[in-house]
Amino acid sequence: MSISGGAEETTLLATDDMRAAARRVRGEAREDGEEPRTARAVDPAVQRQSRTVPEPEPLKSHGPARVVALCNQKGGVGKTTSTINLGAALTEYGRRVLLLDFDPQGALSVGLGVQPHQLDRTVYDVLMESSVSLDDVLLKTNIPGMDLVPSNIDLSAAEVQLVNEVAREQTLARALAPALPDYDLVLIDCQPSLGLLTVNALTAADEVVIPLECEFFSLRGVALLIDTIEKVRERLNPRLHIAGILATMYDARTVHGREVFARVVEAFGDTVFDTVITRTVRFPETTVAGEPITTWAPSSSGAQQYRALAKEVLAR
Ligand code: ADP
Ligand code: MG
Repeated sequence: MSISGGAEETTLLATDDMRAAARRVRGEAREDGEEPRTARAVDPAVQRQSRTVPEPEPLKSHGPARVVALCNQKGGVGKTTSTINLGAALTEYGRRVLLLDFDPQGALSVGLGVQPHQLDRTVYDVLMESSVSLDDVLLKTNIPGMDLVPSNIDLSAAEVQLVNEVAREQTLARALAPALPDYDLVLIDCQPSLGLLTVNALTAADEVVIPLECEFFSLRGVALLIDTIEKVRERLNPRLHIAGILATMYDARTVHGREVFARVVEAFGDTVFDTVITRTVRFPETTVAGEPITTWAPSSSGAQQYRALAKEVLAR
């Protein structure tokens, strides 16, 4: 899917929105009689959902996996939440899924009930020691068909240690290769930075899902992220492409949420998934419960949204 011009448009979009936001921050009203430009009467997220996405075909055999990096250098935008819940939803369609925690914070591991600081070996050891394979650190989750490669604070040292390695950007791709035949999808939960670990994730990936919080300030970093993805594609990984931009923490009740979403769609068109993840307290609850929303609250709108996202991802 082409997103050429996306970076440029994002800059414009941010600049425009920045003016409006600055006005709000200053507490100024809109200029007299000025209609809010993108405050739609209709919820723009609902408008797009009329398109139908085909039901995923059942699989007769598994693998080789598509590798998807969930990436945004901004923290708190829903990367980890989306990794867990998209992964769990994909297993409901019979897919075998490997989740890879690639953030030293270990939030993905925690979100699946694992205490990362108690682990002897994690993805860090797989990266740094050729004698340790993914199989050695892999954990089964409570979701049948979904496995986890955990991470903990040890991984923060890898960023520094990898700098002196030969082909340092390909370290994760090399480590991941033997596992690909066993899974249909590998989801990599990236850390909130564009450093060497994230470049490793992008080099190992076929595609990127960009979770984007429906808040004005989330738009500012997207141009830089897309530049990074394009550089990795040119220099390291020609397969890499953007699977889609996922609007998260959407609140249709606020003009601001609707505006931001409408601008994202204006700029990125069909790269934006039709599925939108709404803001709900059910997600923080699932972190405490240590399980995906698809099992914690199976009929909640959050669970249904991640199932719809899984269908879209499988159709792309
Ligand atoms: P990231 O991995 O990008 O840092 P997280 O997935 O950890 O982001 O989400 C940040 C926080 O927001 C977490 O506490 C999470 O539970 C919460 N959260 C994520 N998605 C939603 C949502 N749709 N509605 C409300 N809270 C959410
Ligand atoms: Mg995270």
